[in-house]
Amino acid sequence: MTPYGCIRCRTHRGGAKGAIIAKSYPLCATIGSVLNIEPKIKDEADRCVMCGLCLPHCPTYYKTQNEAESPRGRISLILALANNQLEADEALRGHLDSCLLCRACESKCPSGVQFGEIMDGARNTIAQSHPRPPQRINFAALAASKGAQRRQSTLLWLADKSGLRALGRGFGVTRALGLERLEQLAPRINRPHGWHHYYQAKGLHQGDVGLFIGCFSDMFDQVTLESAIAVLNLCGYGVYVPNSQACCGALHQHSGDTAQALRLAEQNLATFGALDIVAVISCATGCGSHLQEYARLVGTKINSCDINTFLDQIQWPAGVKIAPFNGRIAVHEPCSLRNVLKETAPLYHLLKRIPAAEIVALPGNERCCGAAGSYMVEQPAMADALRQEKLDGIEASRPSILVTTNIGCALHIAAGLRQSGHTLEILHPVTLLRRQLEMPL
Ligand code: SF4
Ligand code: SF4
Repeated sequence: MTPYGCIRCRTHRGGAKGAIIAKSYPLCATIGSVLNIEPKIKDEADRCVMCGLCLPHCPTYYKTQNEAESPRGRISLILALANNQLEADEALRGHLDSCLLCRACESKCPSGVQFGEIMDGARNTIAQSHPRPPQRINFAALAASKGAQRRQSTLLWLADKSGLRALGRGFGVTRALGLERLEQLAPRINRPHGWHHYYQAKGLHQGDVGLFIGCFSDMFDQVTLESAIAVLNLCGYGVYVPNSQACCGALHQHSGDTAQALRLAEQNLATFGALDIVAVISCATGCGSHLQEYARLVGTKINSCDINTFLDQIQWPAGVKIAPFNGRIAVHEPCSLRNVLKETAPLYHLLKRIPAAEIVALPGNERCCGAAGSYMVEQPAMADALRQEKLDGIEASRPSILVTTNIGCALHIAAGLRQSGHTLEILHPVTLLRRQLEMPL
């Protein structure tokens, strides 16, 4: 036993606040089956010097003040697993599952510890011996099948249009089926449609790009994808939307299904690799940040670029006019944009093209909104607690409109706004830009 007690007891009982969980404390528990954490994951975790400088930036630690809910605590737990000192019991898995993978810790770590890689690796190992229980809706399976996505979004549109959705809510059917949380998140949508293979540039042809349509953007936010095509065409870029593209694989990677994540990455690399394009454009930074991980995961880089960064970098045709926006635009910065892509500056620079607009950062942008892929469904308590800070920030800054670059964040925040009776509109920046363009599209 150590001055801090057993790592397991401290984890389970709260322990000395702020105490560092050392790497090789003796344990008071008998260890049964052990897990084989990959050596490269263990080596990366070993690079953590336990300084704790990441702790103030971790949303789950901020909310719980529990060391086991912090980056340092989670790395200690993973090291204890790798050193066969702990079992992957329910409590331990809970501490790892409650991580949002927002990577705020990684972006602040002075030692450059790759926390995302460590957590993905640990979850992948754990998933092999402790498969997750089946969910009402299997997001990973849904994300992997374009056909299933189109069927689900068409069903949702039909349920909305026929009034069945409102009836289900009113009579408690949605709740009885365990779908209440999903129903709250799903927005009203236009009738989903397929895509042409190619959208011709207008005016002088500058080049061609591929459009990555994603899963949830294609299901719930085709307006943003249409806007991206329209603005790119207007700026002289032809847009390919190949139908053999797949989900980026982020959901699978972060839930421990590395094998499926790799298959999806290979499919996207083959699909976009066959095109003569200057870049693969992504309209959701959650997907865009994962596309950029392909180099590490598969060993092949995909030349992807976020739509805002691309539009900020290219030369716009001289005749394009943007109408003034007489109001305040609050910018929500998703973690994927801040901590992984690190491309907030191009977004603000692009928005400054809109005359008269007052552009402000949403207060509390440094902390995750709680969406985090399927986290907003699987960990509703923490997801809602974090979202409340965004709702408070909206209340304080009173914007005319909120923009965000990630569909998951948009759905999560919009659901919170609806529940609290707010009517604030949330748009992707490219949709706002398209609206303000004075040229016919
Ligand atoms: S992850 Fe980095 S910042 Fe956090 S405790 Fe380890 S070395 Fe320090
Ligand atoms: S990824 Fe986010 S939630 Fe997870 S440990 Fe790091 S800061 Fe905390």
